[in-house]
Amino acid sequence: MKQIAVIGLGRFGGSVALTLAKMGYDVLAVDTNEEKVNDIKDSVTYAVQVDAMDEQALKALGIRNFDVVIVAIGQDIQSNILVTVMLKDMGVKKVVAKAVTELHGKVLERVGADNVVFPERDMGVRVAHALVSKNILDQINLSPDYSIVELITPEEFAGQTLERADVRMKHGVTVLAIRRGNEVIISPGAKQVVNSGDILVVVGREDKLKDLEER
Ligand code: ADP
Repeated sequence: MKQIAVIGLGRFGGSVALTLAKMGYDVLAVDTNEEKVNDIKDSVTYAVQVDAMDEQALKALGIRNFDVVIVAIGQDIQSNILVTVMLKDMGVKKVVAKAVTELHGKVLERVGADNVVFPERDMGVRVAHALVSKNILDQINLSPDYSIVELITPEEFAGQTLERADVRMKHGVTVLAIRRGNEVIISPGAKQVVNSGDILVVVGREDKLKDLEER
């Protein structure tokens, strides 16, 4: 079982820690703020009030033995960067750090963060898509150019096979799965018919997906 530590229990870190705990992972939650620690202590494996800038205190927690450490300190960019450096110096295998701006993200990569996440930026992208598109339910950005989206079957495709709808050729996207009520059709073939109300999970280029979104 993976052991995961979350440092900083703000809105983002708190949500990450609770979700991982619900998924059954061993979660150590760390914050300087006593209230934050108390709020979460019954929901995670272990919660401690520690200043992550205190190297000795971090070592005492055995932090280097954790499989993943998430640095979710947000507003205090200096602490966020220094804690990331410290964790990598201690030999933590995988450090995931939250960045507030693009430049902050670049710095985190330079100092050795294994994964940099931009929750505010990503949520902004998702909300923007959800606002302007009639049928997009969710979106995962694979790169700046490619995404996976979940969309309600455009009416013009309903009742047709994927081949006929020509999703791949005409629209330059690939249908990975179809969700129909409780049923999930994985990797549907060309002869698969899509129904009105089906949810399509589609991968493709941003511009091609945008074209689908607007139908
Ligand atoms: P969010 O935007 O996700 O709510 P915040 O920056 O508001 O993020 O919250 C970050 C959390 O990190 C706060 O609860 C704060 O107490 C905690 N924090 C800040 N610095 C440290 C530190 N050096 N060690 C541990 N926790 C810290």
